[in-house]
Amino acid sequence: MRFKRPTIVILIFIIILFSSCNTKDVTEQNIVFGTVCKITGSSQIPFDQVWETLRNLESKINMNTANSEIDQVNAKAGLEKVEVSKTTYDIIQTALYYSKLTDGAFNPVLGSVIQLWKDGTDFCVLPAPEAIEEGLKHTDINKIELSELNGKYFIYLEDPDMRFDLGGIGKGVAADEVKTLLLDSGIDSALINLGGNIYGMGTKKDGSSWKIGIQDPNAERGEYLKVVEVNDESVVTSGSYERNFIKDGIKYHHILDPSTGMSANNGIISSTIINSDSTACDCLSTACYVMGIEKATKLIQSLDGFKAIFILESGKILEVQGKSNEEI
Ligand code: ADP
Ligand code: MG
Repeated sequence: MRFKRPTIVILIFIIILFSSCNTKDVTEQNIVFGTVCKITGSSQIPFDQVWETLRNLESKINMNTANSEIDQVNAKAGLEKVEVSKTTYDIIQTALYYSKLTDGAFNPVLGSVIQLWKDGTDFCVLPAPEAIEEGLKHTDINKIELSELNGKYFIYLEDPDMRFDLGGIGKGVAADEVKTLLLDSGIDSALINLGGNIYGMGTKKDGSSWKIGIQDPNAERGEYLKVVEVNDESVVTSGSYERNFIKDGIKYHHILDPSTGMSANNGIISSTIINSDSTACDCLSTACYVMGIEKATKLIQSLDGFKAIFILESGKILEVQGKSNEEI
């Protein structure tokens, strides 16, 4: 088949137009889990399905969503077990795994203490020491009963005053779910940013890595201490610069030390974890913040394929590599 010259010119024009449309990334954002969720990538991303997936997860595990599965489990604490989806059941199992791995620094049933620090969803109240002492009595993960019967899944909190709070794992799980949805939809490049819980899928269109800034905890938002380059990896930071308040000259923040019920204060002021598993990063970033430099460093060094960046109170930046990273 032979084309005439004007036809060729038109064809080239159409190809250029098509490829330039195709290379332009688009971003959509929405509020889910009470936070700004942003997805950037090709226009082929099934955005409607992304939001549906996130809202669906929210209706299962967000304790602030009335009647979510976790809200029901909390409401029925000490009364009866509640049937939940396999998704919720698996998330609680994962949360328990990380709670044990971190020697309790990550605790998914810290709700009885966390709620003392809140007015609604705002973290702004300094509780009385007696209230914290009482709250801490209801945070024993051994009082969580998981059971499976005839293909159905149940969760029961044996202690009537015990409450799940999945704020330290939810966004990581959500990022992993979006990643799976996009991969199943044939998308291999996207930036998933769920309230700072980031997953860089594949590479950018030009083949370069996703560049993620690590916030300077002592500077304005958007000022970075370091930039991390990732492909198919998640970057999750827990920092005291988020959700904090100052009372009588002391800064209090939302990452609580389960051994004291107070804002964690063990030398780390920002804890970033990098790995392909966003759920793991979310749990471990919170846990490492709580554990402090020595314990957190040992933990990350013992894990395959994990990297951590800790910013210390002194301003020092400490980079730690997991086992297999060291060998690379
Ligand atoms: P962010 O929500 O800012 O991403 P984190 O992932 O560190 O930060 O999660 C902090 C949230 O997790 C808190 O707002 C609270 O809901 C919950 N939380 C606080 N301390 C702990 C803890 N030690 N273990 C598990 N969850 C915690
Ligand atoms: Mg976390």
